[in-house]
Amino acid sequence: MVAAAQGKEQFVEKVVIIGSGPAGLTAAVYCARANLNPVVFEGVMAGGSAGGQLTTTTEVENFPGFPDGITGPELVERMKQQAVKYGARMVPEDVLAIDCAHAPLMVKGDTEVQAHAVIIATGAVAKRMHVPAEERLWNRGISACAVCDGALPIFRNKELLVVGGGDSAVEEASYLTNFASMVYIVHRRDALRASQIMVKRAMEHPKITLLWNTVLVDALGTQKVEGAVLKDVVSGATREIPVNGIFYAIGHTPNTAFIEGQIKLNETGYIVTVPSSTVTSAEGVFACGDVQDSRYRQAITAAGSGCMAALDAQRYLESHEG
Ligand code: NAP
Repeated sequence: MVAAAQGKEQFVEKVVIIGSGPAGLTAAVYCARANLNPVVFEGVMAGGSAGGQLTTTTEVENFPGFPDGITGPELVERMKQQAVKYGARMVPEDVLAIDCAHAPLMVKGDTEVQAHAVIIATGAVAKRMHVPAEERLWNRGISACAVCDGALPIFRNKELLVVGGGDSAVEEASYLTNFASMVYIVHRRDALRASQIMVKRAMEHPKITLLWNTVLVDALGTQKVEGAVLKDVVSGATREIPVNGIFYAIGHTPNTAFIEGQIKLNETGYIVTVPSSTVTSAEGVFACGDVQDSRYRQAITAAGSGCMAALDAQRYLESHEG
């Protein structure tokens, strides 16, 4: 039980973790096993759901240790059970604000908790196109992560489509060529935003076809993706092409709105950490997972950085004891 929730004089926790995806829960396992009695604000709505992006994924086949795969929600649930087993206390609330200007740090949801250290692991949300078929076909052929989902049987030897013109779009399209018979990159302009080397790779790849000045307006199929409806933004003409998978690579939005002005963010809103660490610009505040990583964005890299944050917080607390 969190002391503040009991209405007692406010107790200062050693560490509060914000977020319950693989980064937050790995930090929780490590902090709990280090006797730091972590409080974990799980998040309810802020990042889409408690447990983060993994909970909106079906099969996870690339998390080491699960040779037969595991569903995203089950993987998160197992991490949570592991954290709780060692003493992490879960608070099923979103954090609305933090105050890092004074010691102790203050974390505010419906419950207010004071802490000597805070680990932020609130993740990021993949941007969606919001085409009409999206709700029906999400995880049934529409995905925002080729690396997570691209190797699934439903995409093998099929024609697939990637939306976007940045490095992610090209990287994901290249990755998909390992399984697909053809990959279309649909980009709304006539030039890619991706770096030159990535552009060259896409242009020269025999299995990648670029569709310029084109936007996705809908997907076809009821139980699975059977096609895409595309619009040429120059002529205004629409057409349908038969594809069995649609991957969004149009960027992510880090869940950092609640910390603006408190911690240094980069120009796209990600938390800035000191290289090779999880240290942020605010004393006693550490960040891990996708909220500080626009590049790798994998469950396993998030979990690894969650471990780093726990060790950084532990060392910080030890150096400030007494
Ligand atoms: P990004 O660079 O922001 O690119 C997003 C792309 O999606 C842009 O081409 C954009 O079009 C398009 N887009 C955005 N909203 C759209 C919409 N509603 N409809 C259609 N298209 C839309 O994002 P990213 O590719 O995920 O990259 C994020 C960061 O990670 C970048 O700094 C990138 O360099 C880095 N990254 C690096 C690597 C690598 O080095 N291997 C790999 C992946 C990512 P416009 O171009 O018209 O704006």
